[in-house]
Amino acid sequence: MNFFSPIAISLLLALLSPSLLLCSGDSTTVDDESPPPTVCIVGSGIGGSSVAHFLRNYSVSTGLDRARILMFERHEIVGGRMRTVTFSGDKFEAGGSILHPKNYHARDFVERFNLTVRLPTSIEESTALGIWDGKRFVFKTFGCSDVIKFPFMDKIVSLVNDLYLFLRYGFSLLRMSSFIENTVGNFLKYYESRESRPIFDNVEAMLKWSGLYNLTKVTLQEKLSEAQLSPLLVNELVTVITRINYGQSVLMSGLAGAVSMAGSGGGLWSVEGGNWQMAAKLINHSDITLHLNEQIESVSHLGSYYELNSTKGNSFKCDVAVVATPLDEVDIQFSPVISIPKRKLQHTHTTFVRGVLNPGYFGMKSVSDLPPLVGTLEDPLIPFSSISILRKYSETDMAYKIFTRQLATDSLLDELFSVRTETLRIDWGAYPKYHAPEVFAPFVLDDHHLYYVNAFENAASTMETMAVAGENIARLIVSRFMTNESSTSSDTRSCGSGLHSDL
Ligand SMILES: Cc1cc2nc3c(=O)[nH]c(=O)nc-3n(C[C@H](O)[C@H](O)[C@H](O)COP(=O)(O)OP(=O)(O)OC[C@H]3O[C@@H](n4cnc5c(N)ncnc54)[C@H](O)[C@@H]3O)c2cc1C
Repeated sequence: MNFFSPIAISLLLALLSPSLLLCSGDSTTVDDESPPPTVCIVGSGIGGSSVAHFLRNYSVSTGLDRARILMFERHEIVGGRMRTVTFSGDKFEAGGSILHPKNYHARDFVERFNLTVRLPTSIEESTALGIWDGKRFVFKTFGCSDVIKFPFMDKIVSLVNDLYLFLRYGFSLLRMSSFIENTVGNFLKYYESRESRPIFDNVEAMLKWSGLYNLTKVTLQEKLSEAQLSPLLVNELVTVITRINYGQSVLMSGLAGAVSMAGSGGGLWSVEGGNWQMAAKLINHSDITLHLNEQIESVSHLGSYYELNSTKGNSFKCDVAVVATPLDEVDIQFSPVISIPKRKLQHTHTTFVRGVLNPGYFGMKSVSDLPPLVGTLEDPLIPFSSISILRKYSETDMAYKIFTRQLATDSLLDELFSVRTETLRIDWGAYPKYHAPEVFAPFVLDDHHLYYVNAFENAASTMETMAVAGENIARLIVSRFMTNESSTSSDTRSCGSGLHSDL
């Protein structure tokens, strides 16, 4: 990521581009006597909190710099799908868990707010994976705990596993990593300086600009076959990854599939104490009035402003309204009505179990024969997507995380586990069901100032992609709001041509 001094850039722009300055807050006079504009954000996840953070950063010296920001969260805690649970006395991530080493907004949030990076524990990092086809493990790699522990064993185990993987999947593995690298490389364009990076008012344009759009037009399976990956690799390893990360098969769209594959490499990390703290810090440092337990039930455009009403009977008047939650399963009435493509969410049931797996279920004699991560092939008869060990208290007492597409019933858990002392279940409306070709809702839901961050979730749903979408929405608000202000003010100078000027 490139870091540029904002002051140096402003000076440079002032020298180089006087016409652009005509569109900046410096010359667009927003009457100081008028009440400050109000920006209302529905949702306190990483998307909504990023909008607030970048809005504060980008609206310096614009008419929005005095803006009041109100944020509404239906729950009593912030963070949305970033949430920890306390289970058996330990804290675990229950939603968004892992971050990629090149998730640069998340990195920046952690550094900026003195949060601590948490690296995976040895059990989480263990390379031991078993691919279960419903009857047997079709492939297993070694973990370090499988062999006597010496400091150099990690390296040896990793080399043996590389060899093992190569013997099964051959050069397709190299083609897979170059496919992932290319996709990540394209995504990095979203961190380029604001001077060279346009503001996007629709998802399609945003994806086309970075070269990622075509990946949303085909399935992951089609894309990987085009990239000459062997069907064996796609149907095994890649399928395991998409089932773990998105609960979906390789028939999902190529872009979301590629993002999930990027999330299975090395260098993954999370935030010590919980990823939700990124949202909490962004909110705390953005001078926001936060309304917890305030569920918005209607958003009405009433001429020159929006009225947001909550289920508590409260009413809020806003100049700008931002929806930072997927609209697919929430009941918000819009007036006038808005039109967005129908989208279904993939439900992921996350079940935490303390106890010990039943080796007999997997045709094994001892639980020590089972890998810490059991991934599965795409077969409707297999009742779970993955099972992983989170913590090992003893050889016969562990904390596990299980992902299933349907509720993990007691009878299923009783088959899977020979001992089960504690169980916790969460049903997430987790992410969109990805299709190809993908269709996108607009970022701007009306002709005014109603914005939708989660339109970007059809590209890929991750903490970072939602921060990237939030940043773009913040720029879009500043640019469109200032264009509006300047055209309605007595100052008739025009920014011209409908382009969004970056302020
Ligand atoms: C099980 C699971 C595992 C995941 N794993 C990863 C991972 O490893 N890495 C990764 O990067 N991503 C992962 N993700 C995806 C990631 O968590 C999400 O993409 C991201 O957190 C979405 O953020 P958001 O702000 O867009 O939405 P949300 O976090 O859903 O925030 C929306 C907020 O709006 C609130 N809200 C909704 N309706 C209203 C209303 N009417 N009024 C007021 N408030 C309202 C909600 O309560 C919520 O707090 C995972 C998600 C799940 C569910």
